[in-house]
Amino acid sequence: MSFAVCVYCSASTQSLESIELATEVGAEIARRGWQLVSGGGNVSMMGAVATAARAGGARTIGVIPKNLVHLEVADVAADELVVTDTMRERKRIMEARADAFLTLPGGVGTLEEFFEAWTGGYLGQHDKPLVVLDPHDHYRGLFAWLDEIKSAGFIGSAALDRVTVTSDLAAAFEALARPS
Ligand code: AMP
Repeated sequence: MSFAVCVYCSASTQSLESIELATEVGAEIARRGWQLVSGGGNVSMMGAVATAARAGGARTIGVIPKNLVHLEVADVAADELVVTDTMRERKRIMEARADAFLTLPGGVGTLEEFFEAWTGGYLGQHDKPLVVLDPHDHYRGLFAWLDEIKSAGFIGSAALDRVTVTSDLAAAFEALARPS
């Protein structure tokens, strides 16, 4: 099976620049011959990543909890659509099926997924690359604050160093492909 990247991103924004970013990411996944693991919704950025990945020929795997099948418009065109009983099960399967994690702009759901993949990484539960692609400074405040609390001793350098934050699509994909 080819390299699989799990993408965490918004299920609500309609901002054009964000939808375009998601489309570029989906196209790049396909260009590289990778697979997409996603939350299995066909709305907003989530839908845009999956649609663009498939349009380019990538295999897409969607993982969605049954209570969100309607709300997030289950991506029935996915090559594999896994419907889980719970949100926890969704996250577990998304993590297990991925070789690397890419976070794009998102809200609380995206943040929750990102932090769980990050803490799992620095606590030694996995060794998969974790990348944040942020060309429009969506996360500027978050990472400025994380740097502040690192200076105050609440986060170790090793933990912060596990995350690659970049505004550049090519750099993001290079970091995803880099063995950690
Ligand atoms: P948001 O960033 O809030 O637009 O949400 C993006 C995605 O994260 C959506 O597919 C949500 O269903 C999902 N999500 C929301 N809460 C959680 C959670 N606790 N665990 C995992 N995914 C979540």
